Amino acid sequence: MDHFPVFMAVAGRRIVLSGGGEAALAKLRLILKTTAHVTVIAAQAAPEIHRWAAEGRLHLISRGMEPGDAMCAVLFYAANEDDVEDARVAALAHRDGARVNIVDNLADSQFITPAIVDRDPVVVAIGTEGAAPVLARRIKRDLEERLPAQLGVLARIGKTFRAAANVLPMGVKRRDFWAAFYDKIGPQAIENGGEAAVVPALEALLDETLAATEKLGHVDLVGAGPGDPELLTLKARKALDVADVVIYDRLVSGEILELARREAVMIDAGKEGFGAAMAQEDIDALIVQHALNGAHVVRLKSGDPTVFGRLDEEIDALDAAGISWRIVPGITAASAAVAGIGQSLTKRGRNGSVRFLTGHDTKGFADHDWKALARPGEVAAIYMGKRAARFIQGRLLMHGANPMTPVTVIENASRPDARVLATTLAQLEPTLTKAGLNGPALTFLGLAPRDAVAARNDMNIEEFA
Ligand code: SAH
Repeated sequence: MDHFPVFMAVAGRRIVLSGGGEAALAKLRLILKTTAHVTVIAAQAAPEIHRWAAEGRLHLISRGMEPGDAMCAVLFYAANEDDVEDARVAALAHRDGARVNIVDNLADSQFITPAIVDRDPVVVAIGTEGAAPVLARRIKRDLEERLPAQLGVLARIGKTFRAAANVLPMGVKRRDFWAAFYDKIGPQAIENGGEAAVVPALEALLDETLAATEKLGHVDLVGAGPGDPELLTLKARKALDVADVVIYDRLVSGEILELARREAVMIDAGKEGFGAAMAQEDIDALIVQHALNGAHVVRLKSGDPTVFGRLDEEIDALDAAGISWRIVPGITAASAAVAGIGQSLTKRGRNGSVRFLTGHDTKGFADHDWKALARPGEVAAIYMGKRAARFIQGRLLMHGANPMTPVTVIENASRPDARVLATTLAQLEPTLTKAGLNGPALTFLGLAPRDAVAARNDMNIEEFA
């Protein structure tokens, strides 16, 4: 941008123009829209200029320009359509301290005049830095059509009403009030009752807005389960039915997204475990922003939102913004995965506890109590464990785990394309790498598929011993 657009205060100040022909007329038509004191210096001036002078709209000096003529002027136009004369008057105006524009001479001008769409006090200035006057005119025409003619009247009356409207709390409510005024109530009032009807319409709109019960946003933090839509809770379905906005993670299946209210705005937060596509703070801010706008937001997370869901960060952000929320639990991947292989998460006499571990966290491969995990009979569900498999395998073996400990990897649990790799700790790698899984996968330490399930053969179980 070689020219920075500003709106200059010209009320009661001088604008001086030298010239009396076509170029001068064109500029004067613009300048006379202002409340500046306009002086024209021209030995020969067009009849229109004489008329404006007679009407008192400008002051005409009928002679060539002399030193001091542009004294105290904020702006000066050289519009003689004669390069030599324009250079002469421009030099004089410079000396008088005015900012100078030479018509059709961009290089020697200190400022340029944009094309203008005038809905005073709303003024749109369009500039192309001299590059494309035709384009500027087209944009101007477009805007002329798009901006209602009464916009200026509405803006002027709106300005007088600003203080009154400040009883509305700052933010959405006040913005909505003004949007309703400019988009609908204002134009309607003018059409039906002329300018006089505008203030009463504003008063009515303000009363109505004040009376309207505050629509506060709310956020449901919902578990979408492992992928099978039938594993969605009834509460989750109901939340999806009424959602204005659904912000979902990448692992949430398409079939579940289909269940959201048709009018709901669907936003992909792109997260897959800790591999965030959108920074967590940005997701927090997004949820808060939509709730503050009064929306019923469903924050949809795969599985159960309380398991490796970074839920607490979102709750903290909601609390800080004073937004109400609730958690709707979901079926976590571990529950769906053991169901798929016909096993229990806990079993009397085998394991009285089960651990949910993450393969990696925000800092990299996650560390755990490997010694405890290496003991016989331990059962652990490892989330986000694909990349960390070799690391986990190494740590466990190093801490004395039996290499023959059963390990089962379940990809896409509960989905039609589920795959099960039944292996041992010793074989976990290279089995996993060779299998080349691309879906979400959960690794079970200490569990093998139940024989009966393996025999049923209705599931894609691959054995690697
Ligand atoms: N809150 C989720 C877990 C989010 S972390 C839950 O409760 O399930 C993401 C990890 O969950 C994935 O890396 C994978 O390990 C696991 N996961 C999610 N959906 C899965 C599925 N359908 N099958 C297997 N593992 C899944």
